Amino acid sequence: MTHVAVVGAGPSGIFATTALLKRDDVRVDVFDRTPTPFGLVRYGVAPDHLKIKSVVRTLHKTMSDPRVTFRGNVTLGRDLTLDDLDREYAAVVLATGAPRPRRLGIPGEDLPGHVSAGTLVDWYNGRPAAGQAAQARRVVVIGAGNVALDIARVLLRGGGLAHTDVTDAVLHVLNRNPVREVRVLVRGGVADTKFTPAELLELDKLADLDIVVDPGELTLTEDDRARCETDRTVAARVEAFRRWSTRPRTGAPRSLTFRFRQAAEELTGTGRVEQVRLRGGERVPADLVVSAIGYRGEPLAGVPFDPRLGRIPHVRGRVGPGLYVTGWAKRGPSGVIGTNKACAIETVEGLLADLPVDDREPGIDATLAAHGTRVVTWRGWLAIDAAEIALGAQNDRTRTKIADLARLVEIGTGGGPTWLT
Ligand code: NAP
Repeated sequence: MTHVAVVGAGPSGIFATTALLKRDDVRVDVFDRTPTPFGLVRYGVAPDHLKIKSVVRTLHKTMSDPRVTFRGNVTLGRDLTLDDLDREYAAVVLATGAPRPRRLGIPGEDLPGHVSAGTLVDWYNGRPAAGQAAQARRVVVIGAGNVALDIARVLLRGGGLAHTDVTDAVLHVLNRNPVREVRVLVRGGVADTKFTPAELLELDKLADLDIVVDPGELTLTEDDRARCETDRTVAARVEAFRRWSTRPRTGAPRSLTFRFRQAAEELTGTGRVEQVRLRGGERVPADLVVSAIGYRGEPLAGVPFDPRLGRIPHVRGRVGPGLYVTGWAKRGPSGVIGTNKACAIETVEGLLADLPVDDREPGIDATLAAHGTRVVTWRGWLAIDAAEIALGAQNDRTRTKIADLARLVEIGTGGGPTWLT
């Protein structure tokens, strides 16, 4: 049997694992720094996107294959090094994503009250050690992609998230201090945004909400008009905003305003963000500013990194001898979850073509034990899963996520039921 290590148990790492299992003589050890599998499906996809989250069933099937070993709560660079993996495995696949925020690069960016999308998404998705982020009535979101829409929608849903798996703490904050106004600032024109039509149309389903768009900000260039003729996505996007721009306000208790061609030039305030100053001088009030302007990869010790593109350089997924990359760490942060499947297949094709026959049994557990790492196994995850479902059932919810790292590790390493009370 030849053993391959996959670092990252998100969709990319698991799609790579699925592709590796096509070879009967391969065994896969999957590592993740969180005690739980599924990466961005658990901690990135918005809690109300239940249909997208249902991909977990496919991912679960691969991870429960007897040829796969999950080791959660293991961080590369802390609990083990790339050299450790190199020593023990015939090949290593990095599927570590793009967890770092892009920076706005404007004055005031480091004031309290400005957070990156990742910080806010971590909070509402219950990622362990995420900060407290959404005590705000007026929120400004900078960015024009689907993550900006997720954030606007989730904050405006507030207490309407009880049917999801968000933590009790998140529900409590959004119920007690509901967000009333979200303004999305887009630096380009409407045709250039990255919002996808399905995600825009979802906003129509939110109750008690006025969607506000100034028709004067929707002007199209010649080029935009030509693109509307040839690109259905661009046309649908423009049409959605046109429709909203003609709707009168109803006086609904909550509003979602989109502003176009409005670049933020500075975040201002005394001790914390109070306003966003736009090019042209206008000042937009805000209790919280969220920049949803994309992500970057994270440099890993011993792994090449392209600081300009924010990802690991590679040729069709090959990084160096025995080292491979897949997913956002390979392509950068773009595409939907399914995009990572073809990406993983490309990487694994190259890996399998290079793979030597290597019958050694990896002794990585000795290294982890020497570090005192409390490894959460697949059985451990199943215990966490059961604990979250039981916690949810106490309040007639399908699941309530557990966000406390110590508690997750305790349950995942055998301390289960005591935590349920
Ligand atoms: P994205 O789609 O790349 O959008 C980032 C946006 O930020 C762009 O519109 C960009 O505008 C803007 N931006 C960049 N730098 C800026 C700056 N300094 N100031 C103002 N705006 C700036 O990224 P994302 O929203 O993080 O999404 C990442 C990926 O996940 C995407 O492929 C997305 O579709 C996917 N996703 C999908 C779903 C879903 O399917 N439901 C949900 C969430 C995310 P410019 O064009 O002006 O550069």
